[in-house]
Amino acid sequence: MAEEKDYYKILGVERNATADEIKRAYKKVAIKYHPDRNPGDKEAEEKFKLAAEAYDVLRDPDKRARYDQFGAEGLNGAGFGGGFNAGGMDLNDIFRNFGDIFSEFGFGGFGGGGRHSGGPRKFKGADMRMKIRLNLSEIANGATKKFKVKKSITCPDCHGNGCQSGHQPETCSKCHGAGYVMQTQRSIFGMVQTQAPCPDCHGEGVVIKHKCAKCHGEGIVQGEDIVEINIPAGVQEGMVLNVQGKGNAAPHAGIPGDIQVIIQEEPHPELIRDENDLIYNLLLTLPQAVLGDTVEVPTIDGKARIKIEPGTQPGTALRLRGKGLPSVQGYGYGKGDIVVNISVYIPEKLSSEQKRHIEALKETSEVKPNEGVKSKIFKSFRNYFNR
Ligand SMILES: [Zn+2]
Ligand SMILES: [Zn+2]
Repeated sequence: MAEEKDYYKILGVERNATADEIKRAYKKVAIKYHPDRNPGDKEAEEKFKLAAEAYDVLRDPDKRARYDQFGAEGLNGAGFGGGFNAGGMDLNDIFRNFGDIFSEFGFGGFGGGGRHSGGPRKFKGADMRMKIRLNLSEIANGATKKFKVKKSITCPDCHGNGCQSGHQPETCSKCHGAGYVMQTQRSIFGMVQTQAPCPDCHGEGVVIKHKCAKCHGEGIVQGEDIVEINIPAGVQEGMVLNVQGKGNAAPHAGIPGDIQVIIQEEPHPELIRDENDLIYNLLLTLPQAVLGDTVEVPTIDGKARIKIEPGTQPGTALRLRGKGLPSVQGYGYGKGDIVVNISVYIPEKLSSEQKRHIEALKETSEVKPNEGVKSKIFKSFRNYFNR
């Protein structure tokens, strides 16, 4: 596993920092490493990007909770077709998302009349969200699910470049493909040169002169796609997996959006999930508990036989080691157990003859727990709550 990034450390805040503290801390770090202050400094740029990544997670209560519980791995759902924004967040994304923070300090954001670095602009397709319902067997084994989804797809006629057949996007003559132009502005410091998105190509560096008739030059059309999603074993209700690049296609052959998959658990009729353990309540008859027996209990994909010792007390927990769910973090993190909780059914209606048999037991010493038995039962009762 890759070394964990400590987002709190990157921003220099405590783990229990408030949203406001996080925002202020991010501002401080971002301004220190802002590219306008550190022109050409790659290390500062990396720190600037890392701080944005940290802020992007910690400002969102949902992402922050997942990060706290699972670390950065939890955000992309354990080796799930690519990852979260790490490294994928370029300067344009940062200025677009957090530009308001910088504007207060006189720095520009993308499209805000300020700098534009990193070459021509690329479009990003919109993200999608979908819910996936899984049964216990799918959660235990992992699953591959296929869905037909309506979304923006790459235009089949022009393959996304937006041009009529036989034509190609042409390099913008105003900015010569750079996507930005230099502007000279008067300021209190004198004449200042700044970069601004090119007005002719809107920052893309290319123009389309002969537009594709199907997509009107956009490079995308509304359509349907079969999306295949791999779900790792051990996921839980409410977990969100980010599947990179399977969302809406982007205009002009840009970067496709992501799909956020929200996990829903289908309750099992007999097994109750407790983290990675599965609890089963086994109801024995009075003679079974007294005399012992061999019984079947349900497992994830079938049944297991277990032996009930004579004199088994209600409240006893029997563990079928490793028969529970795997950890979503993968192999090496072990598997949970099936915990069989013993209950005993006390008959509610007996014939008078049956009652006489019970009556006969009433005053015998064997039906009364001695001090040793009492303390043993109390111990297991206490263990149950301390578990
Ligand atoms: Zn087209
Ligand atoms: Zn241009």
